[in-house]
Amino acid sequence: MDDKNREQFRKILTDLMDGLEDQSGQTVSELMLEQDREIEVLADSSIQMNWAVTLRLRSRESRLIKKIKAALERIGDGTYGICETCGEDISIKRLMARPVTSKCIECKEKEEKMEAILS
Ligand SMILES: [Zn+2]
Repeated sequence: MDDKNREQFRKILTDLMDGLEDQSGQTVSELMLEQDREIEVLADSSIQMNWAVTLRLRSRESRLIKKIKAALERIGDGTYGICETCGEDISIKRLMARPVTSKCIECKEKEEKMEAILS
């Protein structure tokens, strides 16, 4: 990974972050709207279900925002694109597909197999 690549990924990650922050702002106002409506129609369980889905999406968004921040920090300290498990370079192709990743495909697959065994 050279400086040009790093700048490219910094841009991708920053754009991703901006998009997510816009979206979560929108979700918060939607949530408040839902809450008002929920008080009016407490009997309607579908609204409560929507709220649960929104909350779950929001927690997924905030996890992703944390991952993006961590990736931007790695760009800053020069460790971006290096697998945190084995120390090998992560392929540019993999980073393009998953810019927040901190593991190479081999380590990620090993980890997923392990999780499948343990869960
Ligand atoms: Zn690795």
